[in-house]
Amino acid sequence: MNKRMHIEVRGCVQGVGFRPTVYRYAVEAGLSGFVLNALSGVIIEVEGPPARVRQFLVRLRQAPPPQARIDALEAREVPVRGDAGLFVISRSERSGDVAAGMPPDLATCGDCRRELFDPADRRYRYAFINCTNCGPRFTIIRSLPYDRLRTSMVGFPMCRACEAEYTDPRDRRFDAQPNACAACGPRLTLRDERGGEVPGDPIAETARLLERGHTVAVKGLGGFHLACRADDSQAVERLRRDKARPHKALAVMFSSVEQVRNHCRTTPEIEAFLERPAHPIVILPRRPNSTLSPLISPDTDDVGVFLPYTPVHLLLLREIGPLVMTSANRTEEPIISDFAELVPDILGRAAHFALDHDRPIVRRCDDSVVMFAAGAPFPIRRSRGYVPTPVKLPVTGAAVLACGAELKNTFCVTRDSDAFLSQHVGDLTEWAACRFYESAVRDLVALLGVRPAVVAHDLHPDYLSTRFARRVRLAPLLGVQHHHAHIAACLAENGRQGPAIGVALDGTGYGPDGTVWGGEFLEASLASYRRAARFEWLRLPGGDAAVKHPVRIALSLLVAAFGSDEGARLAAELLPGLNEKDRAVLLQVLRVSHRSPNTSSAGRLFDAVSALLGLCDTITYEGQAAIRLQTAAERAGVRPAPAPVELATGSEVAVVSFAPLVRRLVRARRTGADIREMAALFHATVAGAVVRTCSMLREQTGLEEVVLSGGVFQNSLLTGWTTEALATAGFRIWRHRQVPPNDAGVCYGQAAVALAEHTLKH
Ligand code: ZN
Ligand code: ZN
Ligand code: FE
Repeated sequence: MNKRMHIEVRGCVQGVGFRPTVYRYAVEAGLSGFVLNALSGVIIEVEGPPARVRQFLVRLRQAPPPQARIDALEAREVPVRGDAGLFVISRSERSGDVAAGMPPDLATCGDCRRELFDPADRRYRYAFINCTNCGPRFTIIRSLPYDRLRTSMVGFPMCRACEAEYTDPRDRRFDAQPNACAACGPRLTLRDERGGEVPGDPIAETARLLERGHTVAVKGLGGFHLACRADDSQAVERLRRDKARPHKALAVMFSSVEQVRNHCRTTPEIEAFLERPAHPIVILPRRPNSTLSPLISPDTDDVGVFLPYTPVHLLLLREIGPLVMTSANRTEEPIISDFAELVPDILGRAAHFALDHDRPIVRRCDDSVVMFAAGAPFPIRRSRGYVPTPVKLPVTGAAVLACGAELKNTFCVTRDSDAFLSQHVGDLTEWAACRFYESAVRDLVALLGVRPAVVAHDLHPDYLSTRFARRVRLAPLLGVQHHHAHIAACLAENGRQGPAIGVALDGTGYGPDGTVWGGEFLEASLASYRRAARFEWLRLPGGDAAVKHPVRIALSLLVAAFGSDEGARLAAELLPGLNEKDRAVLLQVLRVSHRSPNTSSAGRLFDAVSALLGLCDTITYEGQAAIRLQTAAERAGVRPAPAPVELATGSEVAVVSFAPLVRRLVRARRTGADIREMAALFHATVAGAVVRTCSMLREQTGLEEVVLSGGVFQNSLLTGWTTEALATAGFRIWRHRQVPPNDAGVCYGQAAVALAEHTLKH
């Protein structure tokens, strides 16, 4: 007797070669039935002898296609139909709820790479080669379910050869939505700054321009890059000047892992990471003998490295490389995705040529960036290659829209226990980023087909994300404290709900007491928190304006540690970046409390110490002073014993003071001690202060789990030392792995808090 099963599969099961695999397994088992893409995932019916149906299910569970992720597989028996040995792939069904899980963009796979460089292959050197295992997805999808008609490939009718592959279930391009070839698909055009086509082979011509030191805008998956030779300091210097980006590190694309190895220190684990389908930028230590221009990352000994992830990159990097590849945008604005947007700010200024193509980018998406600390990877930007794959939450409930923070903004939308984080949006103080933010929110909500029941936002009333939440009023609002969101994010991605000791070392976050928070020890669970300890207040002379001038905060640090007169005298001696007039004005400002708000920010402490050590007076990008401080500490090559800190436990919130350290640093500077060792001492002392405060809280509360979050933990040296010291003290440590510790992770934490609170109320 035959048996028929109806099977529904959820997860990331569309755009990853799922149906052809199902087809192959069914045909090989001699089963009849069908498979189709539905909004809820993939639906399968198989009919045949019970033993073979069972084997089919086992095989599908154990060996799904490599890029697929099965979250749920439900099978139930249905009446037999007797469709006798025929298995078909049916057309997509457009009904039901959207749970199919959109696939992220996938780097060109090994099979396609081989064909790309095989002169006998019909796609030899075709710049848009792809298959069911690789190619664009998120950046070309207009709506779900994922089908060619609903992608930006709709404008490219397939030729007969492509159509034959596309419709043959045994072909590795069966149902590959972006399938194309030189006869029918998108094509490359090299354009000059007036948009005119440059004659000749676009790849060869682009390589020639790069070779001669030009900057060329190159259209990729989620937007344009600006490319130039990475070993040509003149070219890099010109790119920096034209892009008004004097110091911030530039990413470098290498042709192969072997080439990376010649310039950077790697491990087998890191190399495997570089080659994953997401192909993120990975921050690696540069070898001293590397021939890369030192201007690529003047503030650090690290360099952001990635491998070619589209056929265009593969073709180009075979001709010339390594190449600087930096997003084509105006500072902190969204990446440019269309040729027309390049004019007038980029084309004609930073670049005079653009390697363009005619496959429209539906969704902008920047490259992702991953860092390693103490051997473990964590993202500092989670975007291309990861988005829109959801991050699991340990709580579930009605849909939440979480609006995120302000800088490095991302937002997220939840459905059940899945959090769909957006791609990198950028700095919401920029008008263009705000526009992108609003359209991206509407886009993701529409794509997922959810109706948010709660809108979570930061407590900061002036964040544009908060104002957006208030203005659109999609659902009842829930304000979430910034550092509670950071800690909740780290708890949630580790599947924890707390309570735990949350250590949020961060730049700036709105505190409910009206001060600026940022060096916080919270007794926290997802649903609630108590501020248990904080870093001692530091006064920001002139408020937010001081953030751009660490030297001003250093003055404040000196005044706090030595008093106004002695502090002023020391500033004259140690802070030459502050002229006499500015110093006098700032000393006045420091006397007026409302003009010099208090902050417990750890980020500002790093800035101030960096300036105090003469490493950075004024910044040209966020985090610069801290990065220089970290680099100095790394160059010391030692790990000093931590200096003592003062821990005042008298009041409800304990206070950690670094005044003894500041006095020691000042003494050391005056006696001409090694700046690098002082930088290392500072890092060791902050790590020591975290352990000491956590130990005190462990005694108070009995909590033994520590959660580390906040932008300061992008500092891999601090993260490594803190983790080790906490482990030695017997704590169980949770760190970020999937979501950034910086403000790009805040939206996910807001969502976790909102769901936890919601669950408690019901
Ligand atoms: Zn492929
Ligand atoms: Zn074709
Ligand atoms: Fe933050």
